[in-house]
Formats: sequence, C-alpha cells, structure tokens
Amino acid sequence: MALTIEIDHAKTRAKAAAAAGQPVMPQAVKGRIRRIKWIILLLTLSIYYVTPLLRWDRGPNAPDQAVLLDFAHGRLYFFFIEIWPQDLYLVTGLLVLASTILVLTNALAGRLWCGFACPQTVWTDLFLLVERLIEGDRRQRLKNVNAPLDAKRTIQIVVKHSAWLLISLATGGTLIFYFTDAPELLRSFARADVSANALGWIVVFAGTTYGLAGFAREQVCTFMCPWPRLQGAIWDPEAFTVNYRDYRGEQRTSAKKADELRLQGKPAGDCVDCNQCVAVCPIGIDIREGPNFACINCGLCVDACDP
Ligand code: SF4
Ligand code: SF4
Repeated sequence: MALTIEIDHAKTRAKAAAAAGQPVMPQAVKGRIRRIKWIILLLTLSIYYVTPLLRWDRGPNAPDQAVLLDFAHGRLYFFFIEIWPQDLYLVTGLLVLASTILVLTNALAGRLWCGFACPQTVWTDLFLLVERLIEGDRRQRLKNVNAPLDAKRTIQIVVKHSAWLLISLATGGTLIFYFTDAPELLRSFARADVSANALGWIVVFAGTTYGLAGFAREQVCTFMCPWPRLQGAIWDPEAFTVNYRDYRGEQRTSAKKADELRLQGKPAGDCVDCNQCVAVCPIGIDIREGPNFACINCGLCVDACDP
C-alpha cells in the first residue's frame, strides 16, 4: 500500500496567492525571536565570510589556511585536523553524527535548523532586508507589484538587483576561497588575473544564491527541500514547536466585538483577527489553520502576536 503525504495547505495557499498575483512578501516584525534571528544571521554570515581568511601554521610545505578543501592534493584541512582520502570514514562518521543531531533536535524543538540557521533561511532573510530597505515594507511592496514602471520604481529595481548581485558574488567568491588559497585568489582578483575555472564556479554559485534567495525563497523550503517530507516521519507531538492555541484564540473576532460579547456573557477568543501572524510569515501560511508541514518554525508569527 502506498502512503502519500501531501502538503495540501501549502499547495492551496501557493496556488491562491499565485492566482491573485500576490507573491509572499513578509512584513517586518520586531520582537524577541526576531532579535535572536538577527544575531544568528550575523553570526553565521560572519563565520561563512571570515573562515577562509583565517590562517593556521602547519609548518613548511603545508598550506597555512585554517579551513581548506585541497582537491588537487586530496586533503581536507580543518584547523589542527588533516584528513587524507583513506580517512574519509571520519567524514562519513561526522555526517552521520550531524544527521543524528539534526533528527534529535527536531524531536526536541521541531525545525529549529530550518527556521534559524539553514543557509536558505539566512540568505533569504538578508535579501529580504535589502528589499525592505530599498522598496519599503510589505504594504508598499505589494502596491509595487502592479505599479507603473516610472523612474522611481526603475531606480528601486536596479538598486535592489545590484545589491542582490553584489551579495551573491561575494557569496560565490567566498565559497571558492574554501577550495584554494584565499589571499592568493584575492590578490589575483586585484590583478584581474583570475582563472576561467574559478570565474566559472563563482558565476555558478553566485547565480544559485541570487536565484534561491532572491526569487525562489519560501518555494525552496516548501517544495524543493526534502525536510518537510521527512518531518512527517520524525515529527514528535511533544516537540517545542510553533502552534496556535485555538482553545484560547477562537472564536476570533475584533477587540471591540470581543469586549461586547464578554459583557453579554458570551464567549470570545483572544485572537483579534488582525492577520499580523500571516503578514509576517516568510512562508505565507496561516498558523491558525493548524500545524503545517510547510512551517519552518521560525517563530516570527509569535513575535507578531506579542506586540
Ligand atoms: S497575530 Fe494572528 S493569532 Fe495573533 S491576534 Fe493577530 S490574527 Fe490572531
Ligand atoms: S507559521 Fe510562524 S513559525 Fe511557521 S513559518 Fe510562518 S511565521 Fe514561521
């Protein structure tokens, strides 16, 4: 018997949004979880961009780059660790350990990795920040979708894409640094003497960053990443995940109406139906409709509901 798990709600929303011509444009939100996410974003990006520039003295005839994947000589250097091809089982062990930690973390706190530290989440957050700074917050960006292409709008689009491309090139360039001597490659950039091979890989990685963080965004988490499918098999009902307490929130109604209902001795929920939790969601889902496979557990809807 075949078992099919469908992310029905995510599909419905994606279709509805597409039919209405409304892309997911998350609104900015302030709060405790957002601050934690900014700190993690800064930390992870700093680690990524700075690591290849760190030096580690291994004596003569050995590279002094702290982290280096030296494919030409079949070596992997990680600070004081040096892995040769025959030590590859160590890497396999590390990968098994990493997957086990990921699954155990999931059992404790759901998709913590997805919501806070996954490169797709981090770079999409960065691209969204740039977009917001240039084009404004959600309301303005939604207005821009069908706005005429006047001079102001053209400048906004050019500036935004230029900034995105610069970040993408920096990201692609940095990834190459992990495979070669970073300062030497930097010097060759300055001399405009970069090999076609290096340039090709930078373009591939920059293009991937630009496409995934600038355009595909939440579609990667919902439709491309295997994690939501895996989540159905390893989900623990006791895990610390983002959920809507419907027994507390329903019946949802405006604050004024809720006061009136309570005065009449009738039940009214705490949810004032302000839609803020939906507006800030980077996936574009309504958590009030129940647990959702597409939810990356980022907690931004919690901040939105806790002004
Ligand atoms: S943020 Fe969402 S759950 Fe909270 S009151 Fe507004 S609509 Fe209700
Ligand atoms: S529903 Fe909430 S926790 Fe889930 S992805 Fe949306 S904002 Fe993040």
